[in-house]
Amino acid sequence: MSFEKLGIFKPLLDAVNDLGYKEPTLVQKRAIPVILSKKDIFATAQTGTGKTAAFALPILQKLRKPSEGSGVRAIILSPTRELSIQIHDDIVKFSKYMDIKTTILVGGKDLQKQREQLKRGTDIVIATPGRLLEHLENGLSLQDVKVFVLDEADRMLDMGFTKDIRKIHPLLPKRHQTLLFSATFSDKVRKLSKLILTKPAFIETAKHNTTVDTINQVAYLVDTDRKAELLAYIIGSRNFPQVLVFTRTKASADSLAEELKKDGLKCGVIHGDKTKANRLKTLNQFKDGLFRVLVATDIASRGLDIEELPYVINYELPSIPEDYVHRVGRTGRAGREGEAISLIDIYEKYEIRDVEKLIGEKIPQEVVEGFEPDPNIRRKDIDEVKLKSEHKKEAKKFQKKAEAKRVTAKSLKVMKKKRKTTKRD
Ligand code: AMP
Repeated sequence: MSFEKLGIFKPLLDAVNDLGYKEPTLVQKRAIPVILSKKDIFATAQTGTGKTAAFALPILQKLRKPSEGSGVRAIILSPTRELSIQIHDDIVKFSKYMDIKTTILVGGKDLQKQREQLKRGTDIVIATPGRLLEHLENGLSLQDVKVFVLDEADRMLDMGFTKDIRKIHPLLPKRHQTLLFSATFSDKVRKLSKLILTKPAFIETAKHNTTVDTINQVAYLVDTDRKAELLAYIIGSRNFPQVLVFTRTKASADSLAEELKKDGLKCGVIHGDKTKANRLKTLNQFKDGLFRVLVATDIASRGLDIEELPYVINYELPSIPEDYVHRVGRTGRAGREGEAISLIDIYEKYEIRDVEKLIGEKIPQEVVEGFEPDPNIRRKDIDEVKLKSEHKKEAKKFQKKAEAKRVTAKSLKVMKKKRKTTKRD
């Protein structure tokens, strides 16, 4: 099946050809004809499957005729600034033989400059929900919008954009097409889909929450305090040219980066405490090969598109199993082989079961020679930790009660004293 057979017109075929796309990916095959037929869609597709082209190509084709009005004709909402930029860059490449204007509206950039850009006229807006709302409050009209896209809808909802989306949606004209893309099929997304989609076509390109088939997954058992050492060893001994490493928290991202630097590995860090400009700069430096390792937390990593990234390492498992799917979606992109390695300690050995339940497959657990977990560290620690925290809770409750009693006793004393003074008066 070729892009031509999907009904894509010449200027887009030429652009896709320039990019070296030989044939459409599964989500493109399924989504493009349905989008061209003007239907709403609900597509479950992971990052790396070619979903950007799946919605961008048919949208561009729809916008080939000059607009009757002067307003924005397509809105693409994405959860992060990085993903918005990625979508924008892709659309610019796809529309190189067309006369289409595209604008990015994301936070951290000058609002006034964005307003001026909008005034000059734009066909497509790619935005994060919060910043789009700001522009809507400042008079941006959605009355000419023909297509509304929610990309990575699950993550947008996880990031707390539900209210914003609910505010934006009623401002769209009655007749418009909505395209919803989500990596997972969460309850939140299902609820939202009922609210904003009209008789959608369901396009499923993978089983719910499954990882991409071309990714080899493995988990190495290791003690917590030897993880950094093992990570450096894996990168060095297997001669990984570039690797994306995920941590659960900002603090562990920072301290891991310090450890790796000590091992002589050049690395960059992306997490929520870094400014957006800094995150983007680090990402670009990584793309340019200035770092061998990019350490990232989950939120900050959304939307990163690093081509042909062969390895993703989970230094720590994510706290939400769904994030595992997002993380490993960074590799094995568009049918390429990829490897996702998780370093799991005694606690995560059990946590990984939630991930396995979600993706519907077992992740093999192995041990790297020289990094065998200490058999004396047992999981019963978990029970001890639990017990301790329960004790702590009880102790806190007790303290609170005691404090309350003390306060009451004190106020009683004061009252008595007052009464005595009043009597004497
Ligand atoms: P996406 O899922 O949209 O982030 O795309 C992942 C990667 O696959 C991007 O680097 C795209 O340029 C690439 N890609 C998208 N469609 C195709 C295709 N049909 N053939 C080859 N590469 C593609």
